[in-house]
Amino acid sequence: MSLADAVKWNADGLVCAVVQDRVNGTVLMQAWMNAEALEQTITTGQATFWSRSRGEIWVKGLTSGNTQRVVDLRLDCDGDCLLLLVDPAGPACHTGETSCFYRSADVAGWQDAPPPSATTLKALAGQLEQRKSADPGSSYAASLYAKGRHKILQKLGEEAVETVLAGTGDDTQPLVYEMADLWFHALVLLADAGLSPDDVLAELARREGVSGLAEKAARNKGES
Ligand code: AMP
Ligand code: ZN
Ligand code: ZN
Ligand code: ZN
Repeated sequence: MSLADAVKWNADGLVCAVVQDRVNGTVLMQAWMNAEALEQTITTGQATFWSRSRGEIWVKGLTSGNTQRVVDLRLDCDGDCLLLLVDPAGPACHTGETSCFYRSADVAGWQDAPPPSATTLKALAGQLEQRKSADPGSSYAASLYAKGRHKILQKLGEEAVETVLAGTGDDTQPLVYEMADLWFHALVLLADAGLSPDDVLAELARREGVSGLAEKAARNKGES
């Protein structure tokens, strides 16, 4: 059975495809694929869609340069939606925004917002970035920035030691607690240095060296 057979194509012969950054989890865009686009995505490893407005195969980034290398391709439970995990070469949106989902619902209407990030870690990093301009008297993070890098490093060292000590025990709760302290202060250091968790995640992903979809497809062919 070919991969296309398991897909529940709509009346127009298309299936919805959601694109997600495989490093930081940001949901980047949504587009449509026909069977040819799916086939081409699998064989080339580059995200390829069907442009409904132009009525043609559309290799994402062919004109903008913002291509998307597909690392993993998923099908949902009832076969009517694809999920592409990609390494993007640049912004996904033709507006220049990282993600097409740059508007967030608010009582006052749609508000421009940073790329959607579902993790607590990234939400906290965003807050810590904002605390750079907060009053040191009312924000712990702001007080750390105000005292300077040496103070942040000292706190990070203390929390590292506390984490090590917690790790020697059998009780896991203290370890979770101290690791949270450690991560918090590590995020403060990153923010103070002008970095974000994404920079660290990108380095980890680089070391992981996850192979792309086309490489996997070629490997599987060689085995059969
Ligand atoms: P690109 O594929 O990035 O080279 O862009 C080619 C054209 O596709 C653009 O001029 C847009 O009209 C359209 N396009 C690019 N990215 C998106 C997107 N994320 N959603 C909808 N249309 C897009
Ligand atoms: Zn579904
Ligand atoms: Zn867009
Ligand atoms: Zn602690």
